[in-house]
Amino acid sequence: MTSIQTNGHAAAHAAPAIKIVPPEAPLRDVMNGAGRMEIPCLDHGFVALVDCMPRLVPEGKTADFAIVQSARVSYGEGTKQVSEDRGLVRYLMRHRHSTPFEMVEFKFHIAMPIFIARQWIRHRTANVNEYSARYSIVPDRFYRPDLESVRKQSKSNRQGGDEPIDVGTAEEFMKLLDNAEHLYKDYLSLTEKGVARELARAALPVSVYTEWYWKCDLHNIFHFLSLRMDPHAQWEIQVFAKAMYELLKPIVPVSAEAFEDYRLESMHLTRLEIEAVRSGKPLATDNKREQAEWESKRERLGLK
Ligand SMILES: Cc1cc2nc3c(=O)[nH]c(=O)nc-3n(C[C@H](O)[C@H](O)[C@H](O)COP(=O)(O)OP(=O)(O)OC[C@H]3O[C@@H](n4cnc5c(N)ncnc54)[C@H](O)[C@@H]3O)c2cc1C
Repeated sequence: MTSIQTNGHAAAHAAPAIKIVPPEAPLRDVMNGAGRMEIPCLDHGFVALVDCMPRLVPEGKTADFAIVQSARVSYGEGTKQVSEDRGLVRYLMRHRHSTPFEMVEFKFHIAMPIFIARQWIRHRTANVNEYSARYSIVPDRFYRPDLESVRKQSKSNRQGGDEPIDVGTAEEFMKLLDNAEHLYKDYLSLTEKGVARELARAALPVSVYTEWYWKCDLHNIFHFLSLRMDPHAQWEIQVFAKAMYELLKPIVPVSAEAFEDYRLESMHLTRLEIEAVRSGKPLATDNKREQAEWESKRERLGLK
């Protein structure tokens, strides 16, 4: 009785044999051996790609490989032709079969002004670790647009700016930024006098830069990019989103092409809009904003 129990216990703790399967072809690093790949953004910011999954792929393939591999749920099927892989990736994107795109991940190190970080952090599906202004002194880096980039409040878009404002008013705005930045000296001296960093930072403007590591899967990155590369997003976050896209595009070229074809450059038509195309009649709504949106779609479609 005792010996049976002992044997069962020992068997449960025996290390399992690990079967090592060699790759189907020699592997290559999709980041070509780089430690990081960085694009400067705005005056002090950057987006740096620091790692990705898969990092190693069979020679002749790209990281798109991991998408088709999971979609086929079969290791042996990984040896299909690249052209068949492309067709599958494009099918998955068209039909919003999204989970295979979650098999690819990218990790970025980003430095951006806090007012941009506040928009960015709304994207809840990423894993984020931010610089701690409780633990460390905030570095002396503030966002200042060029004089000619100081935008006027848009009349059509309450959330945005459009054309540059006159130089006099732009200069006045730069003085306001100067005043806000001058608070930094007091912030430093008060932390030196012993005020806790977690409290002293409350006096810093949202133009100050923060940094974080941001890891996300490709499906959710495409969602982020479709919202933040869009002309309706704030110009400053568009700069970061476009840099991020430039960094990942060569690593997943097939998915990026499908994303552009079926998401980024595509257009959604409502039931009313389809009805208007069919009937040749005006859009059946009194809503002015909806009508304006339909007019801009008609222009893109070459219908006016
Ligand atoms: C042009 C623009 C203007 C904006 N204006 C404002 C504004 O005025 N005020 C404001 O507060 N925000 C504003 N936002 C932020 C916006 O409302 C979203 O919070 C942000 O874009 C993140 O989108 P998301 O939730 O789809 O993304 P993610 O958080 O990345 O989520 C991705 C997807 O995962 C799913 N998901 C994630 N978490 C949950 C959850 N907890 N429950 C259910 N589903 C979930 C959803 O399907 C979601 O679409 C604006 C965004 C843009 C692009």
